[in-house]
Amino acid sequence: MNKRMEQAKKLMEKLPRVTLGFFPTPFYKLERISEELGVNFYIKRDDFSGMSLFGGNKIRKLEYLLGDAEARGCEYVFTFGATQSNHAMQTVSACRKRGLKPVIYLTAVVKPDPEDTRSNLLLDKIMGAEVHVVELFENETEDEADERALAMAREQMKQLEAEGHKCYEVPMGGASAVGSAGFIGGYIEMMEQAQALGVTVDYVYHATGTGGTMAGLQAGRKLIGDDHTQIISINVSGKDENYPPKIAALANETLALIGADPSIKVDAAADIHTDLGYYHPGYEMPNEGSSEAIRYLARTEGLLADPVYTGKGMYGMLDHIRSGKIPAGSNVVFWHTGGATALFAEKEILGDLTAK
Ligand SMILES: *Cc1c(COP(=O)(O)O)cnc(C)c1O
Repeated sequence: MNKRMEQAKKLMEKLPRVTLGFFPTPFYKLERISEELGVNFYIKRDDFSGMSLFGGNKIRKLEYLLGDAEARGCEYVFTFGATQSNHAMQTVSACRKRGLKPVIYLTAVVKPDPEDTRSNLLLDKIMGAEVHVVELFENETEDEADERALAMAREQMKQLEAEGHKCYEVPMGGASAVGSAGFIGGYIEMMEQAQALGVTVDYVYHATGTGGTMAGLQAGRKLIGDDHTQIISINVSGKDENYPPKIAALANETLALIGADPSIKVDAAADIHTDLGYYHPGYEMPNEGSSEAIRYLARTEGLLADPVYTGKGMYGMLDHIRSGKIPAGSNVVFWHTGGATALFAEKEILGDLTAK
């Protein structure tokens, strides 16, 4: 595996990249939870990726996305998300650092109160992003509103381009092959840290939304020839049966982008493990299991997860461990993808986190 890791790193060096975060992010064992649950529980702290106090998994993607944008001579960066999108906020901060102009189209899944701007939307405004809030029409679904936001943004990009301003479009969550490449690097980074501690990683758990992170992790796993570790992706929103093949295709597109040997392929049925059992009732809607997981992590280790992503991911992981799906004594990694700003979002996103 080590030779493959060195080869993989060489391939990655060919992609344009800008420096945004602080890598490697910490990787260590949580002793108290490990003892209580009877597994060896490690955490990968991508919430500490930087570049501001409020980091997260999107920074790894943005190092390559903005590298690509700059290589193409772009001036504006457009992206998309919900009004409290972590991805949009991290894109804005990354653009500011690089002197690019951020334009974000945000679907009002949770309608912001103009008198009380909170969380990521507040940070977007402090950083002076051009913010377009797209409110849902009556009878319009979130997906339809997202489509409409995309059409409006493309219209604006067309106008800017006609005036001579080059624009770069980052899809929701940064889930393109260029963005996902960041998690090939992330997977190798984590494996090197585990090896240094003498740990064979049996399971990696993380919360999955757009799937860009999963695609990169899966691509990284295949690329270094790791056929032992299982990556288990806990969904934070409803997805149909096309989701795993779609993410396998994105992973393979990412492998092709970096010029990997074409025989190295992620296979949806063999490699991808998703679990839809923990996101209910919906995206940005809390549930008691997730709230309990957040309180448990906070009260056992003094560590914070968030109600939209990592809380649901932790809920799934804890349930898999407690129900015996994961054998006792396993080496389990939770990939902390960030998102703690949601702890300061609208009450309806938060759930009951202060219960005794
Ligand atoms: C975006 C995000 C995820 C999901 O990552 P995807 O690449 O979109 O699947 C997980 N956790 C947090 C905190 C996020 O902001």
